[in-house]
Amino acid sequence: MSDLLPNHLAGRWQAGRGAGTALFDPVLGTELVRVDNSGLDLEQGFEFARRQGGGALRAMSYAQRAGLLGAVQKVLQAGRDAYYEISTANSGTVQRDTAIDVDGAIYTVGVYARLGAALGERAFLLDEAAQSLSRDGAFQSQHLLVPGRGVALFINAFNFPSWGLWEKAAPALLSGVPVIVKPATATAWLTQRMVADVIEAGVLPPGALSVVCGSSAGLLDALRGFDFVSFTGSAHTASLIRSHPAVAERSVRVNIEADSLNSALLLPGQDDAALQLLASEVVREMSVKSGQKCTAIRRVLVPESRLGDAVQAIVGGLRELRVGNPRNPQASMGSLVSREQKDAVLRGMDELRRHATVLHDGAAQPLLDADPETSCCVAPLLLGLPDAAAGDGAREVHEMEVFGPVATVLPYRDTAQAVELARRGGGSLVASLYGSDATELAQAALRLADSHGRVHVVTPQVAQSHTGHGNVMPQSLHGGPGRAGGGEELGGLRALRFYHRRSALQAPGAVLDALPQGID
Ligand code: NAP
Repeated sequence: MSDLLPNHLAGRWQAGRGAGTALFDPVLGTELVRVDNSGLDLEQGFEFARRQGGGALRAMSYAQRAGLLGAVQKVLQAGRDAYYEISTANSGTVQRDTAIDVDGAIYTVGVYARLGAALGERAFLLDEAAQSLSRDGAFQSQHLLVPGRGVALFINAFNFPSWGLWEKAAPALLSGVPVIVKPATATAWLTQRMVADVIEAGVLPPGALSVVCGSSAGLLDALRGFDFVSFTGSAHTASLIRSHPAVAERSVRVNIEADSLNSALLLPGQDDAALQLLASEVVREMSVKSGQKCTAIRRVLVPESRLGDAVQAIVGGLRELRVGNPRNPQASMGSLVSREQKDAVLRGMDELRRHATVLHDGAAQPLLDADPETSCCVAPLLLGLPDAAAGDGAREVHEMEVFGPVATVLPYRDTAQAVELARRGGGSLVASLYGSDATELAQAALRLADSHGRVHVVTPQVAQSHTGHGNVMPQSLHGGPGRAGGGEELGGLRALRFYHRRSALQAPGAVLDALPQGID
Protein backbone atom coordinates (compact mmCIF):
# COMPACT_ATOMS: atom_id res chain seq x y z
CA MET A 1 0.00 0.00 0.00
CA SER A 2 1.21 3.55 -0.71
CA ASP A 3 2.27 6.02 1.99
CA LEU A 4 -0.40 7.74 4.08
CA LEU A 5 0.23 11.51 4.10
CA PRO A 6 -0.09 13.04 7.57
CA ASN A 7 -2.17 16.14 8.33
CA HIS A 8 -0.71 19.11 10.19
CA LEU A 9 -3.14 20.40 12.79
CA ALA A 10 -2.85 21.82 16.31
CA GLY A 11 0.84 22.42 15.67
CA ARG A 12 1.72 18.76 15.08
CA TRP A 13 1.68 16.05 12.43
CA GLN A 14 -1.30 13.74 12.81
CA ALA A 15 -2.18 10.67 10.76
CA GLY A 16 -5.80 9.81 10.14
CA ARG A 17 -7.05 6.61 11.73
CA GLY A 18 -8.52 5.12 8.54
CA ALA A 19 -6.92 3.31 5.61
CA GLY A 20 -7.23 6.48 3.55
CA THR A 21 -8.25 7.46 0.03
CA ALA A 22 -5.74 6.72 -2.73
CA LEU A 23 -4.40 9.39 -5.08
CA PHE A 24 -3.47 8.25 -8.58
CA ASP A 25 -1.22 9.10 -11.49
CA PRO A 26 -3.87 10.04 -14.08
CA VAL A 27 -1.64 9.06 -17.01
CA LEU A 28 -0.21 5.73 -15.80
CA GLY A 29 -3.05 4.79 -13.47
CA THR A 30 -0.67 3.89 -10.62
CA GLU A 31 -1.42 4.61 -6.96
CA LEU A 32 0.80 7.35 -5.50
CA VAL A 33 -0.08 8.16 -1.88
CA ARG A 34 -3.14 8.11 0.38
CA VAL A 35 -4.86 10.77 2.47
CA ASP A 36 -7.08 10.51 5.52
CA ASN A 37 -8.20 12.74 8.37
CA SER A 38 -10.56 10.49 10.30
CA GLY A 39 -10.23 10.77 14.07
CA LEU A 40 -8.70 14.26 14.05
CA ASP A 41 -9.91 16.64 16.74
CA LEU A 42 -10.93 19.46 14.42
CA GLU A 43 -12.35 21.73 17.15
CA GLN A 44 -9.06 21.60 19.02
CA GLY A 45 -7.05 22.15 15.84
CA PHE A 46 -9.10 25.18 14.80
CA GLU A 47 -8.86 26.67 18.31
CA PHE A 48 -5.08 26.15 18.34
CA ALA A 49 -4.81 27.99 15.01
CA ARG A 50 -6.96 30.89 16.26
CA ARG A 51 -5.12 31.25 19.57
CA GLN A 52 -1.51 30.32 18.85
CA GLY A 53 -1.20 31.05 15.15
CA GLY A 54 -3.48 34.09 15.11
CA GLY A 55 -2.01 35.48 18.32
CA ALA A 56 1.55 35.30 17.01
CA LEU A 57 0.65 36.74 13.61
CA ARG A 58 -1.38 39.62 15.05
CA ALA A 59 1.49 40.58 17.36
CA MET A 60 3.51 41.43 14.23
CA SER A 61 3.34 44.41 11.90
CA TYR A 62 2.50 44.11 8.20
CA ALA A 63 6.18 44.49 7.36
CA GLN A 64 7.11 41.65 9.74
CA ARG A 65 4.46 39.38 8.26
CA ALA A 66 5.68 40.37 4.79
CA GLY A 67 9.07 39.10 5.97
CA LEU A 68 7.42 35.74 6.75
CA LEU A 69 6.05 35.62 3.22
CA GLY A 70 9.52 36.35 1.87
CA ALA A 71 10.83 33.37 3.86
CA VAL A 72 7.98 31.17 2.61
CA GLN A 73 8.82 32.17 -0.95
CA LYS A 74 12.43 31.01 -0.45
CA VAL A 75 11.27 27.64 0.91
CA LEU A 76 8.99 27.16 -2.10
CA GLN A 77 11.75 28.14 -4.52
CA ALA A 78 14.04 25.55 -2.94
CA GLY A 79 11.40 22.81 -3.31
CA ARG A 80 10.46 23.68 -6.89
CA ASP A 81 11.92 20.57 -8.57
CA ALA A 82 10.07 18.23 -6.20
CA TYR A 83 6.82 20.16 -6.81
CA TYR A 84 7.22 19.75 -10.57
CA GLU A 85 7.62 15.99 -10.12
CA ILE A 86 4.57 15.71 -7.89
CA SER A 87 2.52 17.79 -10.32
CA THR A 88 3.50 15.62 -13.29
CA ALA A 89 2.68 12.48 -11.34
CA ASN A 90 -0.54 13.54 -9.61
CA SER A 91 -2.01 16.16 -11.99
CA GLY A 92 -0.69 14.82 -15.31
CA THR A 93 0.51 18.27 -16.34
CA VAL A 94 3.12 19.22 -18.94
CA GLN A 95 5.88 21.60 -17.75
CA ARG A 96 4.12 24.73 -19.05
CA ASP A 97 1.00 23.89 -17.02
CA THR A 98 2.95 22.99 -13.89
CA ALA A 99 4.67 26.37 -14.15
CA ILE A 100 1.34 28.19 -13.98
CA ASP A 101 0.48 26.37 -10.76
CA VAL A 102 3.89 26.24 -9.05
CA ASP A 103 5.72 29.30 -10.37
CA GLY A 104 2.47 31.26 -10.33
CA ALA A 105 2.22 30.53 -6.61
CA ILE A 106 5.82 31.52 -5.90
CA TYR A 107 5.36 34.77 -7.83
CA THR A 108 2.11 35.59 -6.03
CA VAL A 109 3.69 35.08 -2.59
CA GLY A 110 6.52 37.39 -3.70
CA VAL A 111 4.10 40.11 -4.81
CA TYR A 112 2.35 40.06 -1.41
CA ALA A 113 5.69 40.11 0.38
CA ARG A 114 6.52 43.34 -1.47
CA LEU A 115 3.09 44.89 -0.96
CA GLY A 116 3.22 44.05 2.75
CA ALA A 117 6.71 45.49 3.21
CA ALA A 118 5.40 48.82 1.89
CA LEU A 119 2.68 48.87 4.61
CA GLY A 120 5.42 49.23 7.19
CA GLU A 121 5.28 48.75 10.95
CA ARG A 122 1.56 49.39 11.41
CA ALA A 123 -0.75 46.74 12.89
CA PHE A 124 -4.00 48.00 11.33
CA LEU A 125 -5.12 50.01 8.31
CA LEU A 126 -7.16 53.18 7.87
CA ASP A 127 -10.14 52.92 5.54
CA GLU A 128 -10.29 56.25 3.71
CA ALA A 129 -9.96 59.63 5.43
CA ALA A 130 -11.84 60.70 8.59
CA GLN A 131 -15.15 62.55 8.09
CA SER A 132 -16.43 65.25 10.40
CA LEU A 133 -19.60 64.41 12.32
CA SER A 134 -20.02 67.83 13.93
CA ARG A 135 -20.23 71.39 12.67
CA ASP A 136 -17.01 72.42 14.44
CA GLY A 137 -15.17 69.31 13.18
CA ALA A 138 -14.26 68.27 16.72
CA PHE A 139 -16.10 64.95 16.52
CA GLN A 140 -15.15 62.66 13.67
CA SER A 141 -15.68 59.26 12.10
CA GLN A 142 -12.65 57.24 11.07
CA HIS A 143 -13.09 53.77 9.60
CA LEU A 144 -10.46 51.24 10.67
CA LEU A 145 -9.54 47.89 9.15
CA VAL A 146 -8.22 45.58 11.85
CA PRO A 147 -7.02 41.97 11.33
CA GLY A 148 -9.79 39.45 12.01
CA ARG A 149 -9.42 37.24 15.09
CA GLY A 150 -10.58 34.06 13.41
CA VAL A 151 -9.06 31.32 11.34
CA ALA A 152 -9.29 31.14 7.54
CA LEU A 153 -10.44 27.77 6.19
CA PHE A 154 -9.64 27.21 2.52
CA ILE A 155 -11.57 24.50 0.70
CA ASN A 156 -9.84 24.23 -2.64
CA ALA A 157 -10.44 22.79 -6.10
CA PHE A 158 -8.34 20.06 -7.72
CA ASN A 159 -6.98 22.09 -10.61
CA PHE A 160 -4.52 24.36 -8.75
CA PRO A 161 -3.14 22.50 -5.71
CA SER A 162 -0.25 24.98 -5.44
CA TRP A 163 -1.49 28.37 -6.66
CA GLY A 164 -4.93 27.73 -5.13
CA LEU A 165 -3.32 27.53 -1.71
CA TRP A 166 -0.87 30.41 -1.96
CA GLU A 167 -3.05 32.98 -3.76
CA LYS A 168 -5.31 32.74 -0.70
CA ALA A 169 -2.70 32.15 2.00
CA ALA A 170 -0.47 35.11 1.07
CA PRO A 171 -3.15 37.78 1.71
CA ALA A 172 -4.48 35.92 4.78
CA LEU A 173 -1.09 35.56 6.46
CA LEU A 174 -0.19 39.14 5.56
CA SER A 175 -3.45 40.18 7.24
CA GLY A 176 -2.48 38.30 10.41
CA VAL A 177 -5.01 35.49 9.94
CA PRO A 178 -3.94 31.83 10.36
CA VAL A 179 -4.75 29.36 7.59
CA ILE A 180 -6.15 25.84 7.49
CA VAL A 181 -6.23 24.37 3.98
CA LYS A 182 -8.26 21.41 2.84
CA PRO A 183 -7.09 20.61 -0.69
CA ALA A 184 -9.28 18.72 -3.16
CA THR A 185 -8.57 15.06 -2.55
CA ALA A 186 -7.60 14.03 -6.10
CA THR A 187 -4.53 16.31 -6.18
CA ALA A 188 -3.89 16.93 -2.45
CA TRP A 189 -0.29 15.69 -2.50
CA LEU A 190 1.30 18.89 -3.81
CA THR A 191 -0.53 21.09 -1.30
CA GLN A 192 0.43 18.77 1.55
CA ARG A 193 4.07 18.68 0.44
CA MET A 194 4.34 22.47 0.22
CA VAL A 195 2.81 22.93 3.66
CA ALA A 196 5.16 20.23 5.00
CA ASP A 197 8.19 22.04 3.57
CA VAL A 198 7.15 25.38 5.07
CA ILE A 199 6.43 23.76 8.46
CA GLU A 200 9.74 21.88 8.48
CA ALA A 201 11.62 25.07 7.60
CA GLY A 202 10.15 26.66 10.74
CA VAL A 203 9.54 30.01 9.04
CA LEU A 204 5.97 30.49 10.33
CA PRO A 205 4.74 30.61 13.94
CA PRO A 206 3.09 27.39 15.20
CA GLY A 207 -0.58 27.28 14.20
CA ALA A 208 -0.20 29.81 11.36
CA LEU A 209 -0.50 27.16 8.64
CA SER A 210 -2.28 23.80 8.85
CA VAL A 211 -3.33 21.21 6.31
CA VAL A 212 -6.15 18.69 6.54
CA CYS A 213 -6.36 16.21 3.65
CA GLY A 214 -9.26 13.97 2.72
CA SER A 215 -12.89 14.30 3.67
CA SER A 216 -14.49 17.69 4.28
CA ALA A 217 -16.77 16.21 6.96
CA GLY A 218 -16.84 18.29 10.14
CA LEU A 219 -14.64 21.11 8.86
CA LEU A 220 -17.43 23.67 8.51
CA ASP A 221 -18.87 22.63 11.90
CA ALA A 222 -15.60 23.72 13.52
CA LEU A 223 -16.01 27.31 12.27
CA ARG A 224 -16.97 30.11 14.69
CA GLY A 225 -18.44 33.56 14.18
CA PHE A 226 -15.21 35.46 13.48
CA ASP A 227 -13.78 32.86 11.09
CA PHE A 228 -13.45 33.01 7.32
CA VAL A 229 -14.06 30.40 4.69
CA SER A 230 -12.75 30.72 1.18
CA PHE A 231 -14.09 28.12 -1.22
CA THR A 232 -13.12 27.29 -4.79
CA GLY A 233 -15.06 24.60 -6.58
CA SER A 234 -18.40 23.75 -8.09
CA ALA A 235 -21.58 25.80 -7.76
CA HIS A 236 -23.25 22.78 -6.17
CA THR A 237 -20.76 22.53 -3.28
CA ALA A 238 -20.82 26.31 -2.98
CA SER A 239 -24.55 26.24 -2.30
CA LEU A 240 -24.04 23.59 0.42
CA ILE A 241 -21.46 25.83 2.08
CA ARG A 242 -23.68 28.90 1.88
CA SER A 243 -26.51 27.09 3.62
CA HIS A 244 -24.31 25.50 6.32
CA PRO A 245 -25.19 26.73 9.86
CA ALA A 246 -21.68 28.18 10.30
CA VAL A 247 -22.36 30.57 7.44
CA ALA A 248 -26.15 30.91 7.70
CA GLU A 249 -26.35 31.26 11.50
CA ARG A 250 -22.89 32.22 12.78
CA SER A 251 -22.14 34.75 10.01
CA VAL A 252 -18.81 33.20 9.10
CA ARG A 253 -17.54 35.39 6.27
CA VAL A 254 -17.48 33.41 3.05
CA ASN A 255 -15.86 33.91 -0.33
CA ILE A 256 -16.94 31.73 -3.22
CA GLU A 257 -15.14 31.13 -6.51
CA ALA A 258 -17.31 28.83 -8.60
CA ASP A 259 -18.11 27.91 -12.20
CA SER A 260 -17.72 30.31 -15.07
CA LEU A 261 -18.39 30.26 -18.81
CA ASN A 262 -15.85 32.85 -19.87
CA SER A 263 -15.86 34.36 -23.33
CA ALA A 264 -13.47 35.80 -25.88
CA LEU A 265 -14.90 38.43 -28.22
CA LEU A 266 -13.50 39.60 -31.54
CA LEU A 267 -14.93 43.07 -32.24
CA PRO A 268 -16.44 43.71 -35.71
CA GLY A 269 -14.34 45.02 -38.58
CA GLN A 270 -10.98 43.65 -37.47
CA ASP A 271 -8.03 42.78 -39.65
CA ASP A 272 -6.27 39.42 -39.54
CA ALA A 273 -3.85 40.49 -36.78
CA ALA A 274 -6.62 40.80 -34.18
CA LEU A 275 -8.29 37.62 -35.43
CA GLN A 276 -5.02 35.70 -35.08
CA LEU A 277 -4.58 36.99 -31.53
CA LEU A 278 -8.03 35.72 -30.62
CA ALA A 279 -7.38 32.36 -32.28
CA SER A 280 -4.07 31.71 -30.52
CA GLU A 281 -5.56 32.70 -27.17
CA VAL A 282 -8.46 30.29 -27.70
CA VAL A 283 -6.05 27.47 -28.55
CA ARG A 284 -3.94 28.28 -25.49
CA GLU A 285 -6.97 28.39 -23.18
CA MET A 286 -8.34 25.09 -24.47
CA SER A 287 -5.01 23.32 -24.06
CA VAL A 288 -3.46 24.78 -20.86
CA LYS A 289 -4.17 22.34 -18.04
CA SER A 290 -6.38 20.51 -20.58
CA GLY A 291 -8.97 23.21 -20.10
CA GLN A 292 -9.26 22.57 -16.35
CA LYS A 293 -9.04 26.24 -15.58
CA CYS A 294 -11.86 28.27 -14.08
CA THR A 295 -10.82 31.18 -16.31
CA ALA A 296 -10.58 29.16 -19.55
CA ILE A 297 -12.35 30.45 -22.66
CA ARG A 298 -15.54 28.42 -23.11
CA ARG A 299 -17.35 30.67 -25.61
CA VAL A 300 -15.78 32.38 -28.62
CA LEU A 301 -17.80 35.28 -30.03
CA VAL A 302 -16.95 36.31 -33.58
CA PRO A 303 -18.72 38.49 -36.19
CA GLU A 304 -20.84 36.34 -38.50
CA SER A 305 -18.81 37.57 -41.49
CA ARG A 306 -15.54 36.30 -39.96
CA LEU A 307 -16.82 32.93 -38.75
CA GLY A 308 -15.02 30.89 -41.41
CA ASP A 309 -11.69 32.70 -40.92
CA ALA A 310 -11.87 32.40 -37.13
CA VAL A 311 -12.68 28.69 -37.21
CA GLN A 312 -9.90 28.04 -39.70
CA ALA A 313 -7.35 29.87 -37.52
CA ILE A 314 -8.41 28.12 -34.31
CA VAL A 315 -8.54 24.66 -35.88
CA GLY A 316 -5.10 25.28 -37.41
CA GLY A 317 -3.71 25.85 -33.91
CA LEU A 318 -5.55 22.89 -32.38
CA ARG A 319 -4.15 20.55 -35.05
CA GLU A 320 -0.64 21.32 -33.84
CA LEU A 321 -1.31 20.12 -30.30
CA ARG A 322 0.02 16.76 -29.18
CA VAL A 323 -1.93 15.22 -26.33
CA GLY A 324 -0.36 12.58 -24.15
CA ASN A 325 2.10 11.63 -21.45
CA PRO A 326 3.55 14.84 -19.95
CA ARG A 327 6.91 13.04 -19.51
CA ASN A 328 7.29 13.04 -23.29
CA PRO A 329 8.79 16.46 -24.20
CA GLN A 330 6.77 16.50 -27.41
CA ALA A 331 3.47 16.48 -25.53
CA SER A 332 1.95 19.97 -25.45
CA MET A 333 -1.14 18.87 -23.55
CA GLY A 334 -1.23 16.45 -20.63
CA SER A 335 -4.07 14.75 -18.88
CA LEU A 336 -7.18 15.51 -16.84
CA VAL A 337 -6.62 14.91 -13.13
CA SER A 338 -8.72 11.80 -12.58
CA ARG A 339 -10.91 9.12 -14.06
CA GLU A 340 -13.91 10.85 -12.47
CA GLN A 341 -13.07 14.10 -14.27
CA LYS A 342 -12.46 12.29 -17.56
CA ASP A 343 -15.87 10.63 -17.37
CA ALA A 344 -17.54 13.95 -16.47
CA VAL A 345 -15.80 15.82 -19.30
CA LEU A 346 -16.62 13.15 -21.90
CA ARG A 347 -20.25 13.19 -20.74
CA GLY A 348 -20.33 16.99 -20.94
CA MET A 349 -18.79 16.95 -24.43
CA ASP A 350 -21.44 14.48 -25.61
CA GLU A 351 -24.19 16.69 -24.22
CA LEU A 352 -22.79 19.84 -25.87
CA ARG A 353 -22.44 18.01 -29.20
CA ARG A 354 -26.24 17.65 -29.17
CA HIS A 355 -26.60 21.43 -29.28
CA ALA A 356 -23.74 22.46 -31.58
CA THR A 357 -21.75 21.29 -34.61
CA VAL A 358 -18.34 19.66 -34.26
CA LEU A 359 -15.70 21.86 -35.93
CA HIS A 360 -12.65 19.94 -34.71
CA ASP A 361 -12.32 16.72 -32.72
CA GLY A 362 -8.75 15.97 -31.64
CA ALA A 363 -9.80 12.47 -30.54
CA ALA A 364 -9.04 11.31 -34.08
CA GLN A 365 -5.29 11.71 -33.34
CA PRO A 366 -3.49 8.98 -31.34
CA LEU A 367 -2.24 9.87 -27.85
CA LEU A 368 1.48 10.30 -27.33
CA ASP A 369 2.92 7.60 -25.02
CA ALA A 370 -0.37 7.16 -23.23
CA ASP A 371 -2.88 4.34 -23.16
CA PRO A 372 -6.31 5.68 -24.17
CA GLU A 373 -7.96 3.24 -21.74
CA THR A 374 -5.75 3.75 -18.67
CA SER A 375 -4.88 7.43 -19.02
CA CYS A 376 -7.20 10.36 -18.38
CA CYS A 377 -6.00 12.27 -21.47
CA VAL A 378 -8.79 13.97 -23.41
CA ALA A 379 -8.23 15.68 -26.77
CA PRO A 380 -9.61 19.14 -27.55
CA LEU A 381 -13.07 19.55 -29.02
CA LEU A 382 -14.17 22.71 -30.85
CA LEU A 383 -17.88 23.18 -31.40
CA GLY A 384 -19.81 25.91 -33.16
CA LEU A 385 -23.20 27.36 -33.99
CA PRO A 386 -23.96 27.95 -37.71
CA ASP A 387 -25.10 31.58 -37.59
CA ALA A 388 -26.09 34.51 -35.39
CA ALA A 389 -29.76 33.55 -35.39
CA ALA A 390 -28.87 30.20 -33.77
CA GLY A 391 -27.13 32.12 -30.97
CA ASP A 392 -30.38 33.87 -30.00
CA GLY A 393 -32.03 30.63 -28.95
CA ALA A 394 -29.00 28.69 -27.68
CA ARG A 395 -29.02 27.87 -23.97
CA GLU A 396 -26.74 24.95 -23.12
CA VAL A 397 -23.57 26.53 -24.54
CA HIS A 398 -24.05 29.45 -22.15
CA GLU A 399 -25.00 27.34 -19.14
CA MET A 400 -23.07 24.06 -19.23
CA GLU A 401 -19.52 24.33 -17.96
CA VAL A 402 -17.52 21.34 -19.20
CA PHE A 403 -14.27 21.47 -17.21
CA GLY A 404 -11.99 20.26 -20.00
CA PRO A 405 -10.56 21.15 -23.42
CA VAL A 406 -13.77 22.30 -25.09
CA ALA A 407 -15.00 25.62 -26.46
CA THR A 408 -17.88 26.74 -28.67
CA VAL A 409 -17.68 29.35 -31.43
CA LEU A 410 -20.73 31.63 -31.55
CA PRO A 411 -21.24 33.97 -34.53
CA TYR A 412 -22.94 37.30 -33.76
CA ARG A 413 -24.59 39.97 -35.94
CA ASP A 414 -23.56 43.16 -34.09
CA THR A 415 -21.76 44.28 -30.94
CA ALA A 416 -25.03 44.60 -29.01
CA GLN A 417 -25.79 40.91 -29.59
CA ALA A 418 -22.19 39.94 -28.77
CA VAL A 419 -22.36 41.70 -25.39
CA GLU A 420 -25.77 40.17 -24.72
CA LEU A 421 -24.39 36.68 -25.48
CA ALA A 422 -21.39 37.21 -23.20
CA ARG A 423 -23.78 38.22 -20.40
CA ARG A 424 -25.73 34.99 -20.85
CA GLY A 425 -22.96 33.29 -18.92
CA GLY A 426 -24.85 34.66 -15.91
CA GLY A 427 -21.74 36.32 -14.45
CA SER A 428 -18.22 35.25 -15.38
CA LEU A 429 -14.67 35.52 -14.14
CA VAL A 430 -13.26 37.01 -17.32
CA ALA A 431 -14.01 38.13 -20.85
CA SER A 432 -11.32 39.04 -23.34
CA LEU A 433 -11.75 41.56 -26.16
CA TYR A 434 -9.74 41.61 -29.40
CA GLY A 435 -9.58 44.63 -31.69
CA SER A 436 -7.57 47.69 -32.59
CA ASP A 437 -9.79 50.74 -32.03
CA ALA A 438 -9.22 52.01 -28.49
CA THR A 439 -12.59 53.80 -28.26
CA GLU A 440 -14.60 50.77 -29.40
CA LEU A 441 -12.66 48.48 -27.07
CA ALA A 442 -13.12 50.81 -24.11
CA GLN A 443 -16.88 51.04 -24.76
CA ALA A 444 -17.25 47.27 -25.03
CA ALA A 445 -15.13 46.75 -21.88
CA LEU A 446 -17.40 49.03 -19.86
CA ARG A 447 -20.49 47.20 -21.10
CA LEU A 448 -19.03 43.89 -19.92
CA ALA A 449 -17.69 45.11 -16.58
CA ASP A 450 -20.92 44.64 -14.59
CA SER A 451 -21.09 40.93 -15.42
CA HIS A 452 -17.36 40.08 -15.41
CA GLY A 453 -14.79 40.25 -12.62
CA ARG A 454 -12.09 41.01 -15.15
CA VAL A 455 -12.06 42.30 -18.73
CA HIS A 456 -8.85 41.57 -20.64
CA VAL A 457 -8.30 43.76 -23.72
CA VAL A 458 -5.85 42.70 -26.42
CA THR A 459 -4.67 44.81 -29.37
CA PRO A 460 -1.89 44.00 -31.84
CA GLN A 461 0.28 46.57 -29.97
CA VAL A 462 0.26 44.44 -26.79
CA ALA A 463 0.52 41.09 -28.60
CA GLN A 464 3.79 40.32 -26.80
CA SER A 465 3.15 42.05 -23.48
CA HIS A 466 -0.41 41.17 -22.46
CA THR A 467 -0.64 38.67 -19.62
CA GLY A 468 -3.10 36.21 -21.19
CA HIS A 469 -6.86 35.78 -20.93
CA GLY A 470 -6.71 33.00 -18.38
CA ASN A 471 -3.72 33.98 -16.27
CA VAL A 472 -4.72 35.35 -12.90
CA MET A 473 -2.36 38.14 -11.92
CA PRO A 474 -2.13 39.03 -8.21
CA GLN A 475 -2.38 42.72 -9.10
CA SER A 476 -5.88 42.25 -10.59
CA LEU A 477 -9.14 41.07 -9.10
CA HIS A 478 -10.01 37.36 -9.40
CA GLY A 479 -13.68 36.49 -8.99
CA GLY A 480 -16.93 37.23 -10.70
CA PRO A 481 -20.59 38.01 -10.01
CA GLY A 482 -23.58 35.67 -10.21
CA ARG A 483 -22.78 32.20 -11.41
CA ALA A 484 -19.03 32.75 -10.88
CA GLY A 485 -19.77 32.77 -7.15
CA GLY A 486 -19.79 36.49 -6.34
CA GLY A 487 -16.34 36.28 -4.76
CA GLU A 488 -13.35 38.58 -4.87
CA GLU A 489 -9.73 37.50 -4.45
CA LEU A 490 -6.37 39.14 -5.14
CA GLY A 491 -6.41 42.62 -6.70
CA GLY A 492 -3.28 43.65 -4.79
CA LEU A 493 -4.02 44.97 -1.31
CA ARG A 494 -7.79 44.71 -1.91
CA ALA A 495 -7.43 41.02 -0.98
CA LEU A 496 -6.59 42.00 2.59
CA ARG A 497 -10.06 43.47 3.18
CA PHE A 498 -11.67 40.04 3.32
CA TYR A 499 -9.48 39.11 6.31
CA HIS A 500 -9.95 42.42 8.13
CA ARG A 501 -12.90 43.71 10.13
CA ARG A 502 -14.08 47.24 9.40
CA SER A 503 -15.00 49.30 12.44
CA ALA A 504 -16.13 52.94 12.51
CA LEU A 505 -14.36 54.82 15.26
CA GLN A 506 -16.43 57.88 16.27
CA ALA A 507 -14.26 60.06 18.45
CA PRO A 508 -12.71 63.47 19.06
CA GLY A 509 -9.92 64.29 16.63
CA ALA A 510 -7.40 64.06 19.46
CA VAL A 511 -8.27 60.39 20.03
CA LEU A 512 -7.86 59.65 16.35
CA ASP A 513 -4.48 61.41 16.44
CA ALA A 514 -3.51 59.27 19.44
CA LEU A 515 -4.16 55.93 17.71
CA PRO A 516 -1.10 53.77 18.46
CA GLN A 517 0.67 51.75 15.76
CA GLY A 518 0.12 48.42 17.47
CA ILE A 519 -2.88 46.65 19.00
CA ASP A 520 -2.41 45.27 22.54
P1 NAP B 1 -16.10 20.43 -5.88
O1 NAP B 1 -16.55 19.04 -6.05
O2 NAP B 1 -17.07 21.45 -5.48
O3 NAP B 1 -14.87 20.35 -4.85
C1 NAP B 1 -14.20 21.49 -4.42
C2 NAP B 1 -13.72 21.28 -3.00
O4 NAP B 1 -14.84 21.16 -2.12
C3 NAP B 1 -12.89 20.03 -2.80
O5 NAP B 1 -11.88 20.30 -1.86
C4 NAP B 1 -13.90 19.05 -2.23
O6 NAP B 1 -13.30 18.02 -1.48
C5 NAP B 1 -14.71 19.96 -1.35
N1 NAP B 1 -16.04 19.48 -1.03
C6 NAP B 1 -16.79 18.56 -1.69
N2 NAP B 1 -17.97 18.42 -1.06
C7 NAP B 1 -17.98 19.24 -0.01
C8 NAP B 1 -18.92 19.54 1.02
N3 NAP B 1 -20.13 18.96 1.07
N4 NAP B 1 -18.58 20.45 1.98
C9 NAP B 1 -17.39 21.06 1.94
N5 NAP B 1 -16.45 20.82 1.00
C10 NAP B 1 -16.75 19.92 0.03
O7 NAP B 1 -15.44 21.00 -7.19
P2 NAP B 1 -14.46 20.26 -8.15
O8 NAP B 1 -15.29 19.46 -9.08
O9 NAP B 1 -13.35 19.64 -7.41
O10 NAP B 1 -13.84 21.53 -8.92
C11 NAP B 1 -14.19 21.90 -10.21
C12 NAP B 1 -15.03 23.13 -10.18
O11 NAP B 1 -14.33 24.18 -9.54
C13 NAP B 1 -15.34 23.64 -11.57
O12 NAP B 1 -16.72 23.79 -11.66
C14 NAP B 1 -14.66 24.98 -11.66
O13 NAP B 1 -15.36 25.94 -12.39
C15 NAP B 1 -14.51 25.39 -10.25
N6 NAP B 1 -13.32 26.22 -10.09
C16 NAP B 1 -13.48 27.54 -9.89
C17 NAP B 1 -12.36 28.35 -9.73
C18 NAP B 1 -12.48 29.82 -9.49
O14 NAP B 1 -11.51 30.44 -9.09
N7 NAP B 1 -13.63 30.41 -9.70
C19 NAP B 1 -11.09 27.78 -9.76
C20 NAP B 1 -10.98 26.42 -9.98
C21 NAP B 1 -12.11 25.63 -10.13
P3 NAP B 1 -13.00 16.59 -2.15
O15 NAP B 1 -12.03 16.81 -3.24
O16 NAP B 1 -12.43 15.80 -1.03
O17 NAP B 1 -14.32 16.08 -2.64
